[in-house]
Amino acid sequence: MGTKLTNSNKAPWPRLKRHFTESFTGDLLSSKRAQSEDRVHVDEERDKRRRNAHRYIFLLLAVIILPLLVNNFYQGQYLLATGALLLLGLLVLDIVLSTLHRETILTPAVVVGVCMGLAVLSLYYGQLYSLFLMFPMLVALPVLFTTRWAIILGVLSAVGAAPVVFSEFKFATGFVLGVSMTLTWLVSAWLEYAMTKQSRRLKDMAITDSLTGAFNRRYLELQASRALQDWERNRRSVSLLLLDIDHFKKINDEFGHHVGDEALKSLVSLIKERIRGVDTLCRYGGEEFVLLLSDTRASQAKIVANQLRRAVQQAQLLPQGPLTVSVGVCDLREVPDLENWLRYADAALYAAKDGGRNRVELAESASILIPEVPPAPRTASLGRH
Ligand code: GH3
Ligand code: MG
Ligand code: MG
Repeated sequence: MGTKLTNSNKAPWPRLKRHFTESFTGDLLSSKRAQSEDRVHVDEERDKRRRNAHRYIFLLLAVIILPLLVNNFYQGQYLLATGALLLLGLLVLDIVLSTLHRETILTPAVVVGVCMGLAVLSLYYGQLYSLFLMFPMLVALPVLFTTRWAIILGVLSAVGAAPVVFSEFKFATGFVLGVSMTLTWLVSAWLEYAMTKQSRRLKDMAITDSLTGAFNRRYLELQASRALQDWERNRRSVSLLLLDIDHFKKINDEFGHHVGDEALKSLVSLIKERIRGVDTLCRYGGEEFVLLLSDTRASQAKIVANQLRRAVQQAQLLPQGPLTVSVGVCDLREVPDLENWLRYADAALYAAKDGGRNRVELAESASILIPEVPPAPRTASLGRH
């Protein structure tokens, strides 16, 4: 590369090395990093890295197509050579487009499909070395596709290549080639599977509460600020429900912390079963939960809150008797920021508690309780646990 090898991250070689490893091993998956990034950033980062991985694979395919192309020209097989030249051009174009963050012309499926087709075709033209080009392609399959497509393409190329392999080589050689190709594919598929699984687990760890499985407060802040932005741009209202278990301290004292924990988990499963995929349930603290209802005005949200409240009461979440919740509801019509959104909902919750618990109150009805906004708050906190 003509560059000095240094330990500095600014040097091109270590940067390239890091770029390459991150694209495939997903350094973003280190728990420290996943914890410090919000879900959107993790998703964006992962997309970026996947695109980078695709670019590396396109580059690899371009490199393995090149000798095929030269050899075809050399041997006067112009049809194959033209096909390879066309593919090479498209691969280079795809790499450029992907670098410019534009849509690529060829999907990875088409690219690998055509590459494998070309390799098999050149086998039929007596270019046995094409067989070895299939190894890197088999590695690329699980990285680029879902398992189903990776299997289909792998099997198709095996079926295409088998007649030539077994007519040109002894059976034992053909068999060994087949086994080593299958192993190559399996190792690549396993690595890809392990990486995806790890990534999903770490992402979940970063945004969910470990006891109940509800989203955590960080995720709430992220979703709430998105809702606020959406409200400013499109006037799409989201309602915030602040739910608090009634007399939870007493439940813990009477039946033990373990029963309390189980009740928290059951409450979360019950609510999750009754909300839509677009709604977000977060554990805000101890026994307080925030539910964000998409595209919902406070009046509709109050109905939902009452349905949930009744469902909780009827579900007998405690073996020893009913458990109830109080709920404060506020939509986005009057709140300029998350701080106030939570403050208003909290005032409504306070009114519900004051009104005898196992109740739902709207922020409007609790307006008398809504405290003055303190000057320039930095983070959202209710301070009422
Ligand atoms: P209120 O009806 O006014 O809400 O009464 P409360 O007793 O529910 O209110 P308070 O906020 O005073 O009590 C909350 C209790 O929740 C205190 C704490 O012991 C309990 N708690 C907080 N987190 C957990 C947890 O993770 N597990 C269990 N079992 N209890 C928790
Ligand atoms: Mg409580
Ligand atoms: Mg509480």
